This record gives sequence, C-alpha cells and structure tokens, in this order.
Amino acid sequence: MTTIISALQAVKQRIASAALQAERVPRDIHLLAVSKTFPAEAVREAFQAGQTAFGESYVQEAVDKISSLSDLPLEWHFIGPLQSNKTRLVAEHFSWVHSVDRVKIADRLSAARPSELPPLQICLEINISGEASKSGVAPHELEALATHVNALPRLKLRGLMAIPVATDDTALQKQQFRRVRELLDNLNRKNFQLDTLSIGMSNDLESAVAEGATIVRVGSAIFGVRQAHKNTGLR
Ligand SMILES: *Cc1c(COP(=O)(O)O)cnc(C)c1O
Repeated sequence: MTTIISALQAVKQRIASAALQAERVPRDIHLLAVSKTFPAEAVREAFQAGQTAFGESYVQEAVDKISSLSDLPLEWHFIGPLQSNKTRLVAEHFSWVHSVDRVKIADRLSAARPSELPPLQICLEINISGEASKSGVAPHELEALATHVNALPRLKLRGLMAIPVATDDTALQKQQFRRVRELLDNLNRKNFQLDTLSIGMSNDLESAVAEGATIVRVGSAIFGVRQAHKNTGLR
C-alpha cells in the first residue's frame, strides 16, 4: 500500500514538471485521483498522503465506497457515463459531475440535488473524436447545452471535460486537448465564466497541462492496473 503514496508523489512531480515546462503555476492544476474499481482502503491510503479529491465512474460502487469513507473530508467527482435512472444517487452523493452531455441528464441532476447541499459543480463532456459511439456533446451543440445548464438552479457550470482518442503521439494528444480549450475559450468570449478544463489522464497528463488543464484525472498511475469492472468492463 505504501506504493500508493510513492505513486502519488511521482504523479505530483510529473504535474509540477509539466507546469514548469508550460510556464504555469503547479497549484492551478488540481489532481483528481480516479479510484474506480479500487477498494475504500486504497482511497484511505491516498488520503493519508494528502489527497482529498477522488473520481468514480460506476454509481453503485461509488456510493458504497463514499458511505464507508464518510469519516474523511473527501470531495467526490463523478466522471463516468451517466444514465438517467442513476441521476438521483449522483446528485445526492457527489460534489462534481464531469460527464454531463445532454439536457435530460442536467435537468434530472438539478431537480434531484438536495437543497441543503451546495449546487452540483458541472463539466460538460465534449465528444472530440466525432465518433457516434463515444459519449459527449457534439461541439456544434455545446453552446445550447451550456446555456441550458447555466439556467438550472441547482447546478453550477464550471467547464469542459474530454476523453481524447488514446495515442502515444504527443502532438496528436495536444491537438485534441487544444480543441477542447478552444471550445472553452469560445464560451468564455460569449460571457460564460468557466474556469475548469478537465483533461489529461495517466498517459497524457503532460500534454494536457501544456494545453491548459486545470483538473487532471489520474487513475492507473496512482492505484495501478485496473481489473475489468463487473458490469461495464474497462473504460
Ligand atoms: C478511468 C478514467 C480516468 C483515469 O484513467 P487512467 O488512464 O487510469 O489515468 C480518467 N477519466 C475518466 C473519465 C475515466 O473513466
């Protein structure tokens, strides 16, 4: 388990070096530790090393983990595909959702967000590959969705998230991330006040930091190789 602590240190070092390279301030880049498929004890270990923000992709697994860790001051981010019958659980148990890609899901999250909690912090997931099989809103539908979400009372629109096509070609990684940043800049020119770019994972966080990431979502580089999830398979 001490490997989680040293892996976390190594990831923070990668973020710091990438920030330096990009002439950015390291503390502007937040590390989300993606704990999906890993047990609560792994999260506890990461917390002891100073990590407080965790990302999960499978609702039931996450809700069980969140309740068994309720003694710790953790911030939970939902980053996986979201079905409308699971929106209530997500609205009740998470602080952030990175994967909103349609009006119906946004409406349901807002309606189900408990009034005693602060607004749910939202990123819209962009489909940058253009493949119909991938989740995410198409770029030409983004502004309409952002306008809709901005008007919902219990959601706070913060920015954009994307999962690019996996590649080891750093030029291609950066090109895909740049496209997401340009979409964020476009919205901000139209008076949306968005401060969050959720891009970058274990294999491409340097490229993401170079292109302006404010949240990197890192799983395997911290917790190790994942086994396939029982319901949905690896994502
Ligand atoms: C699993 C997952 C990650 C973490 O991926 P790693 O390659 O393990 O760092 C990040 N973002 C999303 C949306 C994921 O589903």
